[in-house]
Amino acid sequence: MVKKSQEGLTVKKEENFSEWYSQILDKAQITDLRYNVKGFVVIRPWGAMTIENMYKLYEEALQKKSHKPVFFPTVIPEKNFKKESSHIKGFTPEVFWLEKVKGEDKLALRPTSETAFYHMYSLWIRSHRDLPLKIYQRANVFRYETKATRPLIRAREFYWIEAHDAFKTLKKAEQQVQEDIKTTEEVMHQKFGVPFLPMKRPEWDKFAGAVYTIGSDVLMPDGKVIQQPSTHLLGQHFSKPFNIKFKDEKGKEQYVWQTCYGPAISRILASVISIHGDNNGLVMPFCISPIQVIIIPIFNKKNKNKILKESEKIKEKIKSFGIKTEIDSSEKRPGEKYYEWELKGVPFRLEIGEKEFKEKKLTLFTRDTREKQTISIKNLSKIKKLGEDFDNRLKSKADKFMKNKIINCKTKQEIKKAIENKKIARVNFCSIDKSGEKCAEFIEKEINSEVRGILANKKEKPTGKCIICGKNAKEIVYIAKAY
Ligand SMILES: [Zn+2]
Repeated sequence: MVKKSQEGLTVKKEENFSEWYSQILDKAQITDLRYNVKGFVVIRPWGAMTIENMYKLYEEALQKKSHKPVFFPTVIPEKNFKKESSHIKGFTPEVFWLEKVKGEDKLALRPTSETAFYHMYSLWIRSHRDLPLKIYQRANVFRYETKATRPLIRAREFYWIEAHDAFKTLKKAEQQVQEDIKTTEEVMHQKFGVPFLPMKRPEWDKFAGAVYTIGSDVLMPDGKVIQQPSTHLLGQHFSKPFNIKFKDEKGKEQYVWQTCYGPAISRILASVISIHGDNNGLVMPFCISPIQVIIIPIFNKKNKNKILKESEKIKEKIKSFGIKTEIDSSEKRPGEKYYEWELKGVPFRLEIGEKEFKEKKLTLFTRDTREKQTISIKNLSKIKKLGEDFDNRLKSKADKFMKNKIINCKTKQEIKKAIENKKIARVNFCSIDKSGEKCAEFIEKEINSEVRGILANKKEKPTGKCIICGKNAKEIVYIAKAY
């Protein structure tokens, strides 16, 4: 018997998101929290295989845009770390330091790798012919989080990509920032189905060492936004202390202009799970699901061999279309198997029993709509297209959710109400440079939410005064509760 009460989700996503999220990570075997160091979790095979697929799509997109991969050491000597002053200030409280070995430099576990990469950039970049330099690594990074940690969302170790680019001019660096936003759009939104607002952060909320920061805000089902990939214009803030110079066409020495971009893959998985999952479990986008089609053979003692053999043939056929397919030939009952693969979010399930065998037609179950249809063995290549439709449906649903949650607000009361209703408030605001910080502090204190920034890929014109101080509004900002 299936012990649904023990194995399934016991809370509804819309009623208790936080508990739903914890249960789904555990029950769908994404993570295991029983590792005995605070803030560090084990990512289990189903989670790790998904993350692998996400990395693959992300790296493909970066490489298409002329990025090349590298692997850098995990440790950074303290003296590199100290070269850029606001970077030290911003990151030092979060650094895990290794115990010092006598006679050697003090070493940090990388919280991010600017100060590792840029030491080498000063050796690699000599001439304008070495530029642009576009390099990324897939890596785990470490941050000593003091706030409460949540698996995949905020952890002391996470899995990400960091791209570090160097250019001859400021203009080229700024174009790179826009390219990074497009990469987020192409991969996180178009492929993983996770919509976002590219937010140019207020001056008081930018990356330590950046000229400006653009973060991608994703609205989670509990009404809080989470920062996904961020891209930073570093200007010459690092090239000067790290002495990264090139000789231009006229032989004159100049400092490079830099950007960096950091999609945290494990954190994006948190959004994928939260946005697409339902009360039956995960719903994995077809493009990243470790198994895209699960075949469930339904047999008795008499027809077992025949059905398993036919299942094997079908599996090979589907695999030949480049679709990740497995057979669940375990001893569990079919109902248990259905239930388990639904919980893990596999997009398609194919059932094959005596009837299907005879008619050469299989039963196809689709995870998101939970509809069943029959598919002829001749037509199995159709699944590829059905997979694209599947991902498009997830994306449209997520887009609709997000679109309905942005509310134009004209008064403080309206902001309050929007936030209480788990929405994002869009308001006229004086400024996102230092002069607006007081108004932002008011919002934080009185409305318990944050000014996240202005749209970074589109100039929006304010239509009135700052909603807080009444001065002329220079910007339209987005206000939300945040993780
Ligand atoms: Zn104001």
